[in-house]
Amino acid sequence: MLNKLRQLKNLSQKLFDNTDGPMGAKVIEAKAHGIQNKFISNAAIKVIRQLHEAGYEAYLVGGGVRDLLLGAKPKDFDVASSATPEQTRAVFRNSRIIGRRFRIVHVRFGREIIEVTTFRDSHEEVGEGQEAQQSENGMLLRDNVYGNLRTDAERRDFTINALYYNPENGELLEFSSGLEDLNARTLRIIGEPEARYKEDPVRLLRAIRFAAKLGFSIEAKTEAPIREHADYLSHIPSARLFEEVLKLFMAGSATATLSLLREYHCLQYLFPSTDYCMENGRDVDAHIISCATTNTDKRIRQDKKVTPAFIYAAFLWPALRASMRHLINEQKLSAQEAMQQAAQGIITQQLSYTAIPKRFLIPMREIWTLQLRLPRRQGKRAYVLFEHPRFRAAYDFVLLREQAGEDLSGLGEWWTNFQNVDDTGKAEMIEALGSPRPTGRRQPRRKPKPKPAAE
Ligand code: ATP
Ligand code: MG
Repeated sequence: MLNKLRQLKNLSQKLFDNTDGPMGAKVIEAKAHGIQNKFISNAAIKVIRQLHEAGYEAYLVGGGVRDLLLGAKPKDFDVASSATPEQTRAVFRNSRIIGRRFRIVHVRFGREIIEVTTFRDSHEEVGEGQEAQQSENGMLLRDNVYGNLRTDAERRDFTINALYYNPENGELLEFSSGLEDLNARTLRIIGEPEARYKEDPVRLLRAIRFAAKLGFSIEAKTEAPIREHADYLSHIPSARLFEEVLKLFMAGSATATLSLLREYHCLQYLFPSTDYCMENGRDVDAHIISCATTNTDKRIRQDKKVTPAFIYAAFLWPALRASMRHLINEQKLSAQEAMQQAAQGIITQQLSYTAIPKRFLIPMREIWTLQLRLPRRQGKRAYVLFEHPRFRAAYDFVLLREQAGEDLSGLGEWWTNFQNVDDTGKAEMIEALGSPRPTGRRQPRRKPKPKPAAE
């Protein structure tokens, strides 16, 4: 009887859900999902084919599948496979294992990298030689417990990111409501929301990022813990937070992301001084930050280069200015000295939240110090500044400050014109400025002239 019931249940599931894919996955046929292989990178297809030939399961998964279904151009293609990192490594000569918390394999094809992850399992299922480790606040420090296709789907973050596509037979597989959620433009976390955010608080930021980038609404149960547990973000190492900051602000939807980060009280765990200035500062402070995100999004739409140094310079600018004002008024420091000291303080505080690699930290400071130098353009200085490797970014920053409402007495326009005129024009512009003003920098004290010997 029980067997019969089970058989009937299985049959009805088959009929209604078509759950006859591997591990009971729901199968969506090619004509129903509409994904076309011509929009998938050849490298990803090759990786999947070679893994199949070597006897492993392999699927395209994550953002690649999601974006293809949405008709957008995927940023990258991720592959999930039954092969362990070592087994994947053995299939591809051009590959290497990376990561410690989450070990994956990078397979390189020229400039393109395909990430291959091994099917994950929950941490109750630690096998021999596998790594599971949690911090005292429940965060996963090592997430290298391997499983099968079904357990892998349960370990992914959102339903729309847990769709598996096999380019060889055109089948799309799912275990949850990914396709339905995608159609309803809904972001839904897989499993028990609070537990999933706790084991990896970066998922709080990923929820915000996808909601902003895709314009999806966050399903109620997925949304509820975000504001309440934003403080989980303080458990994430600063280097990983920096990586997330890049994804949040350098992917074309910085403006929407910033607004959601504030709405969900998360910004204070990424940029505390920015958050403070936006909440309590002057209008011009909040404005430079929103201008920076609008400009960044616009540049990305136009395929122009954007650098984290510029975003960081803008996000921390209001705090830098406030601290400089204080040092100049209270400690009577010169503008240069105040900037040096203020920058040191702001950077030290910021580094305890998100790391900033030196390759961005140095240009960020240069953008700042050039703000004091760009107004002093008399004599040969304009030419020297113009040749400075960071001139362009610093000039853009002047324009940003003016756009945000700072009054710089037409500095941006002057530099715009300077770049557009010929050599004679340049000389005339400098001539019109008059003779160099004193820099305000203390002159090195001259040695007193030896007194003439008494006669
Ligand atoms: P993007 O377009 O930004 O690349 P993505 O969804 O592909 O979006 P990735 O960071 O490339 O994001 O991750 C690939 C896939 O790995 C995700 O779609 C998701 O299934 C899974 N994943 C990534 N990070 C996590 C996480 N912190 N927790 C659970 N699953 C994750
Ligand atoms: Mg991806």
